[in-house]
Amino acid sequence: MSKRQLAMVMDLNKCIGCQTCTTACKTQWTDRNGREYMYWNNVETHPGSGYPRKWQESGGGFDGQGNLRPGRIPDFDRDYGAPIDMNYDEALNPLAKSAPGAAGLPHLKPVQALQYGPNWDEDQGAGEYPNGFYFYLPRICNHCTNPPCLAACPRKAIYKREEDGVVLIDQERCRGYQHCVAACPYKKVYFNPLFKRSEKCIFCYPRIEQGLPPACAQQCVGRIRFVGFLDDADGPVHKLVTRWKVALPLHAELGTQPNVYYVPPLSPYQYDGEGRLTNERRIPDAFLIQLFGPRVPEVLRMLEAEREKKRRGESSELMDLLIAYRHEEMFKLDAAYYRKQPAVPAKAQAAPPPARRVIPIVAAETLAQRLEDREIAAGNGGSVT
Ligand code: SF4
Ligand code: SF4
Repeated sequence: MSKRQLAMVMDLNKCIGCQTCTTACKTQWTDRNGREYMYWNNVETHPGSGYPRKWQESGGGFDGQGNLRPGRIPDFDRDYGAPIDMNYDEALNPLAKSAPGAAGLPHLKPVQALQYGPNWDEDQGAGEYPNGFYFYLPRICNHCTNPPCLAACPRKAIYKREEDGVVLIDQERCRGYQHCVAACPYKKVYFNPLFKRSEKCIFCYPRIEQGLPPACAQQCVGRIRFVGFLDDADGPVHKLVTRWKVALPLHAELGTQPNVYYVPPLSPYQYDGEGRLTNERRIPDAFLIQLFGPRVPEVLRMLEAEREKKRRGESSELMDLLIAYRHEEMFKLDAAYYRKQPAVPAKAQAAPPPARRVIPIVAAETLAQRLEDREIAAGNGGSVT
């Protein structure tokens, strides 16, 4: 248990599925060096298979007795959808275009058949016209208070930062066994096939320490993301999770105590066969309950009631909070808090987990060389690729 806990709240009533958050994260952290297939932040359509495919059916987490449940490691092609090659040479080569017979150049297309990919079933959803429905579910690592990825690691390479509860992987200790990948029920740890290490969302801790929100939250077009410390009574996260209790964790039944919370989505009421409005919401409560737990109906009723107050011209602190008029009200961070943190004692530095030695973003050649040197030193030749 860490001293304090950073958390994020996402209001699913405002997500427009634009993937700006995904792009912000990808360009910041995972656009090279064996991370091409990774999406530390992804946005998936529900109902749907999600990313990686059927992650909700892949085990992991804890059972009722607090024991790790078996989990599976997603298949690279079938579940993640490995990065694909495109026929750039064939379709875009300017020399080829001017060559005799170039008029019949093929279209730009993947060179191999696709099996899956992030956002594979975007906007498909479920239900029949006029009652079809779907919503977007953005997902990052939940920086769980009881992380099964940490519990499963035989190398003790995964640790929770004392000062803010961010869950990180010590790259020096990790040996790429992938027990963490199997154990995470959200499938938010990824194996880097180039470095042969596991990697994951780091809650943009270098930004957090400067008082800035993670890149996904900063860039969010729908302004759905609130970031702050759970114990900060003046912060938006505390207000939504603890005071108003409208933000719910994802699959809390798995014993992970996740620290990303969701305001569940309201939806229009269904039409019956005669075209009359019914009292049933298009997104069935049961569907939302299996994601966010039994308090969903109560939260939806409260959201509806507060929204009606606002429509009548009355004040609603909750609606004002969720509308988020000012960007700075959505993020309550504290650079001064981090400056006050004591230096890591010598003992802690000598033994794992060392602070901040996580996912070094270094040139591929540098790390590959370092790994190769280590292999040579171990008498294994220089075969790291
Ligand atoms: Fe670990 Fe997965 Fe929880 Fe993140 S979401 S802390 S990777 S178990
Ligand atoms: Fe949703 Fe915001 Fe991401 Fe757009 S940027 S997909 S609104 S979470």
